[in-house]
Amino acid sequence: MRIDAVTLFPGMIDAPLSESIVGRARQEGFLELGFSNPRDFTEDRHRTVDDKPYGGGTGMVMMAEPVYRALKKVGKKGSYVILLTPKGRPFDQKLAQALSKKKHLVFICGHYEGIDERITPLADLELSIGDYVLTGGEPAAVAVIDAVTRLIPGVLRKDDATVNETFTDGLLEAPHYTRPAVWRGKKVPEALVSGNHRLIAEWRRAQAEALTGKARPDLAPERAKPARKRKQILD
Ligand code: SAM
Repeated sequence: MRIDAVTLFPGMIDAPLSESIVGRARQEGFLELGFSNPRDFTEDRHRTVDDKPYGGGTGMVMMAEPVYRALKKVGKKGSYVILLTPKGRPFDQKLAQALSKKKHLVFICGHYEGIDERITPLADLELSIGDYVLTGGEPAAVAVIDAVTRLIPGVLRKDDATVNETFTDGLLEAPHYTRPAVWRGKKVPEALVSGNHRLIAEWRRAQAEALTGKARPDLAPERAKPARKRKQILD
């Protein structure tokens, strides 16, 4: 897969995505990541990419023309263009799966107060990574590219690594444990050390349902076990 990001700050995406599993996926050719910087498409001496908002107000707005030219440089027929914005459709695992099947994604990253609204119709999708405001679209692009890349077949070494995980079947994943079997007096649940695969599967299913009922009953209301009342972190 190829992904390009239209960004004023390529390093904010390139550096974190050079590490760990995504870094390896890039080295091994599963993911080709490129950047197109609107600043390279300016014509004035100061390489200006932003200006004051019409109608007044605080902050600066990214100008349409440099963003447009940067997008044209990387966008081709068949590219799927995503504008990152807190006003967009919330990102989730289902969308990550759908995006992992595309051949070419282009992310447009806003900065400052955002991008001139006339760029919006050039995107196939307006996407948000959550109900909070970031300084720029770059950390959002990192999160989405990471979630998408690990779903590309071959990136995770074990084929089934993404099969039973959180969100894949509407439930949160059961907890994991590793050695030692007793750590500071705390034991690993008996089912997991029983060697009985049916018992382990049942335990995991029951844990997943209970956890989903407690933490995210909205995910699968018909399957999650009802939550016991508990203190909320913001109470
Ligand atoms: N003034 C904008 C508003 O209130 O909607 C916020 C602009 S934000 C400071 C700058 C850029 O960060 C946005 O243009 C967008 O690209 C990116 N951004 C901020 N929060 C985001 C989020 N939750 N999801 C995706 N992108 C986000």
